[in-house]
Amino acid sequence: MRSLLMRSPIAIAFFWIVAYVLIAVLPLFILLIYPPLGGRGFWVEFSVALGFIGLAMMALQFVITARINRIEASYGIDILLQFHRFTSIVAFVFVLVHPVMLFVVQPETLQLLNFFEAPLRARLAVLGTLAFIALVVTTIWRKPLRIPYEPWRLSHTILSVLALVLGLGHALLVGNYLGLFWKSVLWAAIAITALWLIVYVRLIKPWLMTRRPYLVEEVIPQRGDVWTLALRPWGHDGFKFQPGQFSWITLNITPLSMREHPFSMSSSGEHPERIEFGIKALGDFTSRIKDVKPGTKAYLDGPYGVFTVDRYHDTAGFVLIAGGIGITPMMSMLVTAAERGDDRPYLLIYASKAWDDITYREELENLKEKLNLTIVHVLREPPEDWSGETGYVDQELLDRYIPKFRGSRQYFICAAPRMMDQVERALHDLDVPVTNVHMEHFNLA
Ligand SMILES: Cc1cc2nc3c(=O)[nH]c(=O)nc-3n(C[C@H](O)[C@H](O)[C@H](O)COP(=O)(O)OP(=O)(O)OC[C@H]3O[C@@H](n4cnc5c(N)ncnc54)[C@H](O)[C@@H]3O)c2cc1C
Repeated sequence: MRSLLMRSPIAIAFFWIVAYVLIAVLPLFILLIYPPLGGRGFWVEFSVALGFIGLAMMALQFVITARINRIEASYGIDILLQFHRFTSIVAFVFVLVHPVMLFVVQPETLQLLNFFEAPLRARLAVLGTLAFIALVVTTIWRKPLRIPYEPWRLSHTILSVLALVLGLGHALLVGNYLGLFWKSVLWAAIAITALWLIVYVRLIKPWLMTRRPYLVEEVIPQRGDVWTLALRPWGHDGFKFQPGQFSWITLNITPLSMREHPFSMSSSGEHPERIEFGIKALGDFTSRIKDVKPGTKAYLDGPYGVFTVDRYHDTAGFVLIAGGIGITPMMSMLVTAAERGDDRPYLLIYASKAWDDITYREELENLKEKLNLTIVHVLREPPEDWSGETGYVDQELLDRYIPKFRGSRQYFICAAPRMMDQVERALHDLDVPVTNVHMEHFNLA
């Protein structure tokens, strides 16, 4: 019974949430053992408690974003990052409310804002809070501020380390609750664990990846300005993956540079000896794929993700809804299913701009011979003689194709954000159970 519970994805996900809440508040309760003498009033103590919880939550962000397989496999990167954003904002509010409450209850503490005359503990608090504000502002408004992804990612790491270290420095120097040596050690250990995770993710893991290189075998043009990048493991066996999962790719530079990009595998999960990605030329990195030469060194960090049919072995069939480059994880699911001789029905609803832009058009057609596969192409700019579906994938279109017994299928959506939102809403209005709908967002930040 116990092992059954621990294997259920919902039980595991629940376990991690309970663990998160406990870890966020436990250090605070430990501080309350042998509390400092002399009460300072409820609101002061409450504001200090908020500060400590905010600090513990800041440290926990390093765990959430460390790509720890066990945690990632319970939720998927989308949900983890949403959780990261949400809990960061909560921590931010706690950290801001902490001094504001103090200023209201003890107005004389406002002098601590006089940076050049204030004691070091107050200066650390001001600098830490400024780092945290910069962190939040550059993340929420990265696109309007036109900060390119790579510099943003570097500054995100630096600012988060600064905010944590300065916050802890402030708490240690105030010393009220951390006056006892073992309490200081406990909080320092929390911060060191968080920083260790950064070192592991940014240095140790990339260094381990250098020992498992891949070589580019082929770069093949596809319809729709997409290029298939085929990689072969060099000196090792590669990795097995579940169709629909993704990896971080580093191409032609050391993984220590941390210039990596996430891409879904588009090939069969049964063939680790040749791993393919379908990459659409959209920006700096993706536009250069077409010029990559065979023999170029590559590194993969993966597989990651829970967007896979392999989590639903006992479902009666699948509905895959793709828009544009969102076809890549679906392609992997279909090729793998064909290889495995899966005889369950697959319905692919695939939105593209024009007939000639349909990435993997011929390959998909060929798969129909090996798989119980129905393909519905939806074209925004159809040719004159087109008798198929046109426009957008809306509720009316979905209603005509998805089975009447909605809960008999698992639904996978991968497309541009707007289409994903519309399809998700339409499926909801069509009474598809929310637990049967799975989404992969290609825009992480
Ligand atoms: C889980 C997942 C699977 C994906 N699968 C595919 C796929 O199969 N095929 C495909 O063509 N694209 C896929 N993408 C999208 C792909 O990662 C981005 O298009 C690519 O990283 C853009 O890089 P660029 O330098 O060419 O574009 P830019 O113009 O520099 O960036 C465009 C946007 O892409 C995102 N981005 C840029 N660099 C990174 C990075 N290093 N890490 C994360 N996001 C970044 C940012 O939101 C940025 O604003 C996937 C994304 C995710 C999250």
